[in-house]
Amino acid sequence: KSPKILEKFQEEINKHNLEDEVKIVKTGCFGFCEAGPIVVVYPEGTFYSHIKIDEVEKITEEHLLNGRIVKDLLFKDSIKEDEIIPISEVDFYKKQKRMALRNCGLINPEDINEYIAFDGYRALANMLTKMKPEDVINEVKESGLRGRGGGGFSTGLKWEFTAKAEGNEKYVVCNADEGDPGAFMDRSVLEGDPHALIEAMAIAGYAVGAESGYVYVRAEYPIAVKRLEIAIEDAKKHGLLGEDILGTGFNFNMEIRLGAGAFVCGEETALLNSIEGKRGMPRPRPPFPAQKGLWGKPTLINNVETFANIPQIILKGAEWFRSIGTEKSKGTKVFALGGKINNTGLLEIPMGTTLREIIYEVGGGIPNGKEFKAVQTGGPSGGCIPAKYLDTPIDYDNLIALGSMMGSGGMIVMDEDNCMVDIARFFLDFTVDESCGKCTPCREGTKRMLEILEKITKGKGKEGDIEKLESLAESIKNSSLCGLGQTAPNPVLSTLKYFREEYEAHINEKR
Ligand code: SF4
Repeated sequence: KSPKILEKFQEEINKHNLEDEVKIVKTGCFGFCEAGPIVVVYPEGTFYSHIKIDEVEKITEEHLLNGRIVKDLLFKDSIKEDEIIPISEVDFYKKQKRMALRNCGLINPEDINEYIAFDGYRALANMLTKMKPEDVINEVKESGLRGRGGGGFSTGLKWEFTAKAEGNEKYVVCNADEGDPGAFMDRSVLEGDPHALIEAMAIAGYAVGAESGYVYVRAEYPIAVKRLEIAIEDAKKHGLLGEDILGTGFNFNMEIRLGAGAFVCGEETALLNSIEGKRGMPRPRPPFPAQKGLWGKPTLINNVETFANIPQIILKGAEWFRSIGTEKSKGTKVFALGGKINNTGLLEIPMGTTLREIIYEVGGGIPNGKEFKAVQTGGPSGGCIPAKYLDTPIDYDNLIALGSMMGSGGMIVMDEDNCMVDIARFFLDFTVDESCGKCTPCREGTKRMLEILEKITKGKGKEGDIEKLESLAESIKNSSLCGLGQTAPNPVLSTLKYFREEYEAHINEKR
């Protein structure tokens, strides 16, 4: 719908000769899926939601021509105590701190000048003229930034390992193979702010001593791919990518590689195999990619969100970044909030925000007055967190302590009507489909677990099934080759931990 609305606005603006007064900016995602299509009128930030094509005329004639806000088209929370508030003040955005998503929904991602106008490429320019590679690595280390793709490993340390690894040829790789059900964080950055990734990868190349970068992105993200292609071309034309960047003698080139939708290719060594043209299967580690990665050369791999934080860290400094978040988890985290929640969408909150604040303040609570039951974080690798932990501040360590994980940022909310055994079955079904089959515990073990879960959910479970699930889960976790298998039992284990009675009810009551 949005492209048609945009076209109609252009038509209306031409019709009323407003071309010199009104500029239409086609942005990336605002993050507020539930309210789309969204139209925001600046400078006031007036927030129109759920816009239909036949409403464009009214907004143009009333608001743009005569300065009268069309109250009945405003987003419902835009009027507080009879005052019209701007988009930044509505509940969904108020608690957010947008760092990785800072330009999404604000600039035209297909116009490099808009990125530059919002401080874009200033970090790269400053770094190339004022910093040595080791200064850059120290800044990233000091910032406390941890990998946003799921593992939470120190980004600065990863950069340092790659920089120190032996080899005259090195690579920087961006993992944009976002495969978790319900997750679209990386997609939004690529679609809304592709230059942030290019700038960050060039910074990383300088820091670790690499002149080539690859972005491995899902082919199912055609808009993201197109915008990234445009951005790469424009950055080259502006001397910000390629040979002799900004006349400093530093060279960095980037290419895109398309993934074919295999979840396992989000695992970094499977991703490297896939770029090399091999079947996307994980490699045993060690050696780690920092020592022996792409074509056997030292390779730095970070995901999109991790990279999206880098230009700001270089520009504003590690201290600024460290001032946000918790003791061991600095900065912000982007989550894709979905399931039984009023405000579905993409949000970015400071680490340390509680689940309750996310669900009830940013997310607007549970639809139809239902009770919150649990939230699944970390996608198929994570776990379900029940209501009694709603006041837990979100960070890497707290989520692991609860039997879940940060993962890449999928957050699926369940209400009182959801059967938790069914939820566990759904996620396990996904991992069984996506297992690459290389190692037996994951290939065979997850299938056996799924068979048991299917029997239980059909009322055919029997005594001893729960214990069998637990023992299989333990073996799979301990002996699978890669993260996919090692974390596959998590949804079952966490639902058993917090909702065991639902498994027992299925078995005992044969339902
Ligand atoms: Fe493949 Fe699963 Fe083994 Fe990973 S754990 S290598 S996905 S079979």
